[in-house]
Amino acid sequence: MIMVNRFSRLIGTLIDRAAALQHIASQCILCAAPGQKGLDLCLPCQLDLPALTQCCQQCALPLFDHKAYCGQCLLSTPAYQRVEAPWLYQPPIAQLISRFKYSRQYSIGKVLSNIAARRYASAYIDQKLPDLIVPIPLHWSRQTIRGFNQSEHLARYYSHHFNIPMKRFLKRCRPTAAQQMLTADQRRSNMKGAFQMCGDVAGKLVAVVDDVMTTGTTVSEASQCLLKAGATEVHIWCLARTE
Ligand SMILES: [Zn+2]
Ligand SMILES: [Zn+2]
Repeated sequence: MIMVNRFSRLIGTLIDRAAALQHIASQCILCAAPGQKGLDLCLPCQLDLPALTQCCQQCALPLFDHKAYCGQCLLSTPAYQRVEAPWLYQPPIAQLISRFKYSRQYSIGKVLSNIAARRYASAYIDQKLPDLIVPIPLHWSRQTIRGFNQSEHLARYYSHHFNIPMKRFLKRCRPTAAQQMLTADQRRSNMKGAFQMCGDVAGKLVAVVDDVMTTGTTVSEASQCLLKAGATEVHIWCLARTE
């Protein structure tokens, strides 16, 4: 019995030491101050992140006039039913996403997806969570250059957090030009038919994961593809929304 007690005390001490080390090791990705337990971001920096609070109930476009819907959504309802975006695409979120996406700083992806997942969880507190998580795919040529797909990385974290399967059911069938420099019309024609289905989504509520939602052209095209294949609803889970 004494041996068992000693052994369990030793295990307890080792677990405490490991937790303490982990705590010491966490360091804020913005100011290098000690992070919070298990999170590389200090609380003051977390509270300073540009939260998206007032926005269109359909597409999450930031709105500053207390209206429920933006002009675009009033004109034509988007294919997706809902958008969850914790932040505005402003400093320092914009720079953090770039460091994650282009410099493969996975610790940043981990911090952002950790906080985002908790935000999504509270947004769905009394509502049905999605059945499937599907990341926005990159064309294989772009993925080869970048080395990874940032949306898939986030989707994998959410899948683990919510215990919802993540499936690569969308495929880019052709490379598309970078959207940033294009007009709204050019974006639409650039993305037209860019995705194809490679899995069964019939009867499923699908969460589509992307890092940043700009005009919504990419997620609209993906949503149409999923709805055509029988998905009941499509929700967009992104980190940040541009103005
Ligand atoms: Zn900090
Ligand atoms: Zn809208």
